[in-house]
Amino acid sequence: MVQSLDRSQGREGGSAGGVAAGPTDTHGTFTGNRALQIEEPLIFEMGQPGRCGVDLPEPPKVKDRFNGLRRSGEVGLPGLSEPQVVQHYTRLSQKNYAIDMGVYPLGSCTMKHNPRINEKVARLPGIGDLHPLQPVSTVQGALELIDRLAHWLKTLTGMPAVAMSPAAGAHGEMCGMMAIAAALEAKGERAQRRIVLAPESAHGTNPATAAALGFTVKPIPANDRGRVDLAALKAALGPDVAAIMLTNPNTCGLFESEIVEISKAVHAVGAYFYCDGANFNAIVGRVRPGDLGVDCMHINLHKTFSTPHGGGGPGAGPVVLSAALAPYAPYPWIVKQGDKWTVAEDGGALKSLGVEGTPLGRLKAFHGQMGMFTRALAYIMSHGADGLKQVAEDAVLSANYVMAALGDTMSPAFEGPCMHEALFDDRFLKGTGVSTLDFAKAMIDEGYHPMTMYFPLVVHGAMLIEPTESVAKEDLDQFIGALRSLTARAKTGTAAEAFKAAPLYSPRRRLDETLAARKPILRWKPSNNPPDDPMKQAAE
Ligand SMILES: *Cc1c(COP(=O)(O)O)cnc(C)c1O
Repeated sequence: MVQSLDRSQGREGGSAGGVAAGPTDTHGTFTGNRALQIEEPLIFEMGQPGRCGVDLPEPPKVKDRFNGLRRSGEVGLPGLSEPQVVQHYTRLSQKNYAIDMGVYPLGSCTMKHNPRINEKVARLPGIGDLHPLQPVSTVQGALELIDRLAHWLKTLTGMPAVAMSPAAGAHGEMCGMMAIAAALEAKGERAQRRIVLAPESAHGTNPATAAALGFTVKPIPANDRGRVDLAALKAALGPDVAAIMLTNPNTCGLFESEIVEISKAVHAVGAYFYCDGANFNAIVGRVRPGDLGVDCMHINLHKTFSTPHGGGGPGAGPVVLSAALAPYAPYPWIVKQGDKWTVAEDGGALKSLGVEGTPLGRLKAFHGQMGMFTRALAYIMSHGADGLKQVAEDAVLSANYVMAALGDTMSPAFEGPCMHEALFDDRFLKGTGVSTLDFAKAMIDEGYHPMTMYFPLVVHGAMLIEPTESVAKEDLDQFIGALRSLTARAKTGTAAEAFKAAPLYSPRRRLDETLAARKPILRWKPSNNPPDDPMKQAAE
């Protein structure tokens, strides 16, 4: 949509209908529509000058107070009727594939069903209508809600403290690593410990966070079991190491089976263990990271605890902290005094509450993502402790079901059972002329959003599938059937061209992704409209 006005882009071929195709209409239909998939122009292309959905009264005449600097042309907004606007945005919304439409196999992102009870509770007037600047006396319930969620997060992780305000996983990493840096500073070791270790399979945010804080990132290789190479890790440890950032279960969907030994080795040289908890959904209720020697860990509420994410929606990345790191937790601190909740936002407030701490400052305006907190707590409380344990078990069961059902025809990247994600490499496509990308594009024609591709980087042509606990078995079976069918077609060795042409049935075919990334056209320019059209000139 943002690419260009040339609608023929990515639409070559595929003259499927019985109606003769016009010159710009390569779908073979008069309209360019595909069944009830409507070809959607930009709203600026649809607009007509002077058209308006409502009757507005003439504005009163006022004296020019801008010293002649008045706009002389039109505002340049598209003019549409109300039904046109409604239809435009409804049709655009239908072009989004969504978790509410079907299987969403993206790995490493945990796209799981967002139960409606979460939404209902988050919209309750006493919660949805809160303002962050309300007097504390009027938000006692909200503060208690935050504290109750904090209690669950501490209990589930076996950690004594949690910083609630970080707005996403990456922000949580920043918070945790800043706490580690502050603790090192307090010990006078910040200058000496400049290295942060991160496995090669790490999510890109890990090295980015460490680098942003001025640490030098040293990658640790994976072994042939897809886990951290313990010998390589031990060799890298020394008095110059500040911390390790380790994901568990890791981004290959595997449990780091030597994690206790890793944490002992890290602590033995005086370094800290930052755990990336993005995959906590695979172990929640089963394993407490605190028992594994973790010093701090972020929790992506939008992954583990079913709050919406993606598309710009806010996430939330609370960070659980060990007793040693807890004093550095950022403001605000929510403290109960007698039966009143208070919010300490600076050193003076903390002191007057008689609370010990040297917070590293503030990471975010206000108290955190209240809507996400509410949804996460609703999810947690509606599942209960036993239900959360079952979430982890079912997520792992689903992934292993996929692994078992596809393991003989696709190529599992590593031997043995997985956790919440089934990771395949592209060995099964060898010699077929079909790449991981082609395979993923062909999935779109089968009605499936592709799995995560080419991540983690340690696996060649990676395909990472995370079904989560919320997909029904028959839906998984159909998904597996589609992948088996695609695999069989690819392996005939004569299907490369068909795969390269996929997707055939989507509104757009293959876009020039390099061009889109390098030279995105983010602004509409009226290239072929009449020059005397003031509205369109104004938009230029
Ligand atoms: C998603 C993810 C992150 C980053 O979390 P955001 O909430 O997207 O910032 C970090 N590490 C891993 C392993 C992840 O999967």
